[in-house]
Amino acid sequence: MRRERVSDDIYVFTSDLYAQVTASAVVTKEGIIVVDTLPFPQETRLMIEFLEGLGQGKIRYLINTHWHGDHTNGNFLFEDAQLVGHRLCAEALLDLGSKTLEEAKENAPELEEVQLRIPDITFDQGDMLLHLGGKSLQMVLMPGHTPDSTVVYVREDKVLLAADTVMPLPYFVWGSREDFVASLPRVLEFNLESIVQGHGEVLLRGEIREAIQSSINYLNVIHRRVAQVVEAGGGLDALRQIDIESCGKSRIPLNGLVQELHQANLFALYQQMTGGSQD
Ligand SMILES: [Zn+2]
Repeated sequence: MRRERVSDDIYVFTSDLYAQVTASAVVTKEGIIVVDTLPFPQETRLMIEFLEGLGQGKIRYLINTHWHGDHTNGNFLFEDAQLVGHRLCAEALLDLGSKTLEEAKENAPELEEVQLRIPDITFDQGDMLLHLGGKSLQMVLMPGHTPDSTVVYVREDKVLLAADTVMPLPYFVWGSREDFVASLPRVLEFNLESIVQGHGEVLLRGEIREAIQSSINYLNVIHRRVAQVVEAGGGLDALRQIDIESCGKSRIPLNGLVQELHQANLFALYQQMTGGSQD
């Protein structure tokens, strides 16, 4: 696990074990608010140990940005904190959480001890503002990666904890490309010093506009490219030839995992456009 500081009061923890997942903590005068957990309990425990060792009070709240296990598997370790999330996040965890957790456990014995935990406090119909110890955290639903994807804006620090709404490559297999295209421009409406992405490096002020633009551009380009394949009667081979770099994104981030995400995006779009048929 890597630890860094993006402002006086905000720490970011990045997993070494899986896909450079990030979790963050906002330190206030009245305790700590954690946003997301790390995928494996061993790393989440290190994060909790570090935060408790700061002498800045207890971890009072944990916020879930969306239901995916790589960001929520550590929920059960925050026994004394209240768990906050969008109503759609709680519903998705109730509907899909047990099944996906059991599947994950089959592939990763390190997850054996993980217990599903669902948000205690939920919100819907607009933003939620959490005020604690001089900090204001604004939770805003931004569907795209998943229907429940939420970003957390720390107003005093001008830092956006964007989770998977901002990634090196937008990934919408569990969500909707159209929603993503609608949500991303809204990220630029915040007054920002930095963005903590759900996976990978922190984006600094001068990098934000280009990163968001290139993601919107990518989402539009792959729509066009997949539509061309479908119109020409092409199959999966033609689809596989749509190279990530020809869609304006690098193949390097997340140790190359972005190429798999890209292929999965293409396949999801193709299935959508051909009404779910495989070929
Ligand atoms: Zn993720």
